[in-house]
Amino acid sequence: MKFCSQCGSSRIVLRVPDGDNLPRFVCAECGTIHYQNPKIVVGCLPEWEGRVLLCKRAIEPRYGLWTLPAGFLENGETIVAGALRETLEEAHARVEPTDLYTVISLPQINQVYMVFRARLIDLDFGPGSESLEVKLCEEAEIPWESLAFRTITRTLRNYFLDRKQGDFPVRVSALERRPPLPPDLLAAG
Ligand SMILES: [Zn+2]
Repeated sequence: MKFCSQCGSSRIVLRVPDGDNLPRFVCAECGTIHYQNPKIVVGCLPEWEGRVLLCKRAIEPRYGLWTLPAGFLENGETIVAGALRETLEEAHARVEPTDLYTVISLPQINQVYMVFRARLIDLDFGPGSESLEVKLCEEAEIPWESLAFRTITRTLRNYFLDRKQGDFPVRVSALERRPPLPPDLLAAG
């Protein structure tokens, strides 16, 4: 942070404010404490007669890889409204949300993913400006090797396992940074 968004001063210092226990960017001019907190990513897992709707990304990061429709929650927006908006923007798809399904913390990149299961209302969908292609996939057609994010892989894996049980409990988990590969695996390529 270079300038205070409150007063425009460049006198920003990183220090632990009184009564706090973490370092924050504090403006030495006006005293404003600039808290930084995780961003929330909301999305849908749209279902239609046993198939799920995937989007091929037309933007970086992970251009050309497959994902569920999801994106950053906006200020003033509920998580359900955000998930519906992202699904409409990226897949031009209208859905009826059923239940919150996965909540995944990504502490290394300061994000929290929240994915709803949702029922596709009709088959009138297609790629939005952030997608190259949108399609319905059977479980056997999921491009597991070409999924864009580990959050999406985890959500889909949980989904197909839970579907066999006929029960979809809310799955709360975390994804930490991958540990480095042990030397023998690295050598093996
Ligand atoms: Zn200031």
